[in-house]
Amino acid sequence: MRSVRVNEYGGPEVLRVEEVPVPEPGPGEARVRLSAAGVNFIDVYQRTGTYPGQLPFTPGLEGAGQVDAVGEGVTELSTEDYVAFAMTPGSYAEFVTVPAWKLVPVNVTLVEARVAAAVMLQGMTAHYLSHSTFSLQSGQTALVHAAAGGVGLLLTQIAKMRGANVIGTVSTEEKARLARGAGADEVILYTEKDFSEETRRITGGEGVHVVYDSVGRSTFEQSLDSLRPRGYLVLYGQASGPVPPLDLQVLNSKGGLFVTRPSLAQYAADREELLWRAESLFSWIGQGNLDVSIGGAYHLEDAEQAHRDLEGRGTSGKLILIP
Ligand code: NDP
Repeated sequence: MRSVRVNEYGGPEVLRVEEVPVPEPGPGEARVRLSAAGVNFIDVYQRTGTYPGQLPFTPGLEGAGQVDAVGEGVTELSTEDYVAFAMTPGSYAEFVTVPAWKLVPVNVTLVEARVAAAVMLQGMTAHYLSHSTFSLQSGQTALVHAAAGGVGLLLTQIAKMRGANVIGTVSTEEKARLARGAGADEVILYTEKDFSEETRRITGGEGVHVVYDSVGRSTFEQSLDSLRPRGYLVLYGQASGPVPPLDLQVLNSKGGLFVTRPSLAQYAADREELLWRAESLFSWIGQGNLDVSIGGAYHLEDAEQAHRDLEGRGTSGKLILIP
């Protein structure tokens, strides 16, 4: 089968399609014939070695398709069933093996397979950030960075569903339009303005209840300055680079603030939690309440270009690969 491989850490050019054997499902696993794989920023961290793993490897942590074979002990799945998954490596390929407990059934009459592939990782992330890490309540105000990005557009919509006010940050006017379309009440061009000052102005000097910060190094300090006393900074990514060490006394001087650094794996830790999050997303999509914006679909051979576009800040919404 065709598979994108990373043989050495580096720029997007290290993503090369190679011919490799079709993987065999082990006990408790199923093999999925992929309709689409999701591209995520974490794939960039893994490709560059920022999050080191074992070389060589097939990137991609998310996808959807049809069950093609099952391993020993798997009784709840049949071949041809449509399924989607996240947090399992190797999806930039034609086939992947996935632990059966991580496979979520997809009703393709309500949610197309490529949309399921597009929403699993970023959608479940937006779900846990807004429902569990900081459980947004009606009337609260959230600052969402990179609001026109993959997670950003979904988080904005879900935060609005929960009755929160959303202030989004983006780098361009076009992205501002997309963030407003997703429901953001206010949008700040953080490449042009001091977003903490703007946030204070918008909130009448009070600051926000929570900042969802996926940008990291370039936003972290101002994110702290955007919070009201006892506010929460949820740092869940580092698209601009890692955040330097923090003197905890700063949290005291800025108002008894909270900081957390979560990952999806901690918030979809068992089957019950995984199904709660994924099925909530699928039902919102089926009812027309959640729009999954696919900003680009690429062939496996163009994975390099997909990464260039994502890192270059030129994309909005979700990028997917079609094998
Ligand atoms: P996005 O589609 O949001 O792309 C990243 C965006 O970050 C860009 O479009 C850009 O938006 C913004 N950005 C700001 N500074 C930079 C920079 N220096 N270089 C590149 N981009 C920059 O990606 P994803 O939705 O896939 O992921 C968003 C973030 O969420 C990532 O940091 C990712 O690691 C994190 N994440 C964390 C998870 C977790 O569980 N902890 C799970 C999933 C994602 P703009 O042009 O508007 O500034």
